[in-house]
Amino acid sequence: MVLSNASADLEDADKRFHFHSQTDPARHAETGPLMIVRGEGPHVIDIDGRKYLDAVASLWCASLGFSNARLAAAGAAALETLPVYHTFNHRSNPFVAELAAELATIVPIPGGRMFFTDGGSEAVDTMVKMAWYYHSAIGQPERRKIIARTGAFHGSTVMAARISGLPAMHKSFNLPDCNVIHTARPHYYRDALEGETQADFSARLARELDALILAEGPETIAAFIAEPVMGAGGVIVPPEGYFPAIHEVVKRHGILYLSDEIICGFGRTGSWFGCETFGVQPDLMSIAKGLSSGYAPIGGVVVSAPVFEAISEESGRNGLFSHGFTYSGHPVSAAISVEALRIYKEMDLPAVSRSLGRKLAAGLQRIASHPLVGDVRSVGFIGGVELVADKATRQSFPAELKVGAMVERRTRAHGLIVRNVGDVIAICPPYIVTEDEVEFLVTRLARALDDVHAELQTG
Ligand code: PMP
Repeated sequence: MVLSNASADLEDADKRFHFHSQTDPARHAETGPLMIVRGEGPHVIDIDGRKYLDAVASLWCASLGFSNARLAAAGAAALETLPVYHTFNHRSNPFVAELAAELATIVPIPGGRMFFTDGGSEAVDTMVKMAWYYHSAIGQPERRKIIARTGAFHGSTVMAARISGLPAMHKSFNLPDCNVIHTARPHYYRDALEGETQADFSARLARELDALILAEGPETIAAFIAEPVMGAGGVIVPPEGYFPAIHEVVKRHGILYLSDEIICGFGRTGSWFGCETFGVQPDLMSIAKGLSSGYAPIGGVVVSAPVFEAISEESGRNGLFSHGFTYSGHPVSAAISVEALRIYKEMDLPAVSRSLGRKLAAGLQRIASHPLVGDVRSVGFIGGVELVADKATRQSFPAELKVGAMVERRTRAHGLIVRNVGDVIAICPPYIVTEDEVEFLVTRLARALDDVHAELQTG
């Protein structure tokens, strides 16, 4: 079938033949797609020629925007010289070797080794399998359980979805048990007790985690996993002292600490990696998204030296480390990632993130007084705006009103793309935006909030 380029034909094809990710199929059959056809700096353009500032960088990943010529050239050069090759059984290629070495200069795990995957969910599954393998290697195979947090998002493969703590990821899928336990998310605005300070709240969550580990039996627990800032769970910035307190508990019980840096990695929180911003050193760290600025699918796991050494010894006894993917270390994705890392270093990405982040934080403070806004939060260049029905009581809107989605639709009418995760508006722009574009983002979001406020009042 040859489609004309006419928008109606393409939209019709998409409605009839494409089963969309993370989408309501029945609603899609009615509304059809938002068909994005082109990118220009931090903007994307739809099939009808409308231009949007993409304030969520595609899906938290297009760090360098949508038309970086150096990334395109790096990808094209790799396509022309070595479009595909695998890394099983000692095979390698120059791009992946260089990428591993480049990463080694910025990761906060001294002596870290880089394992590559096709994307984030595979990286998370890989961390869990490595944690199990490590504990077998050191003679503690009974350490099987994984502790994750309510509200977490770690991906959509079976294990990544199982450890995710968002109800919609579980509903109707009947996922197997997989020895997963959830502990409380660090959502100060929603979950702190009356009069509890941030430090008190953090200390309480650490005590609760300790009690949970003791009740389960520390000798049964393999790993604890956390996103530094919870993304899809509502852009939850951890309260003061949270991560050091949690990390201390985890390490005291001989449990591996896994940092899911798939959103927070590569500058987002104002340091190269989120665990640095919050002062903890993980044993394993998942990366994806910003690694290639989203230009090609790639993810990975950074493995600390002690874990790597134990896994290597066990692999020697087993004949090999029997885990990996056809596209692990794919030359085109690796070449693009090498170039992305070079550009990040040249622009001093963490400093850019902190500087743009100050502008964003000031803008969000202005929005905080809006009647629909209960809380604004940000760190580095990531932010969230939590919508509420009642500012004083923090009462949420009924979920079926889908107020977050209403705001998201209205922002598009004002030339802006944001992401609503429930009733939280997530902001995670490309780092190439100007301060004026951050101002545009804030004023257009405020207009969308005004529109929705008026709409809700008129019923
Ligand atoms: N972990 C986190 C924190 C994420 O935000 C995501 C994706 N949004 C994933 C894992 C899964 O990554 P992917 O969609 O590339 O599989």
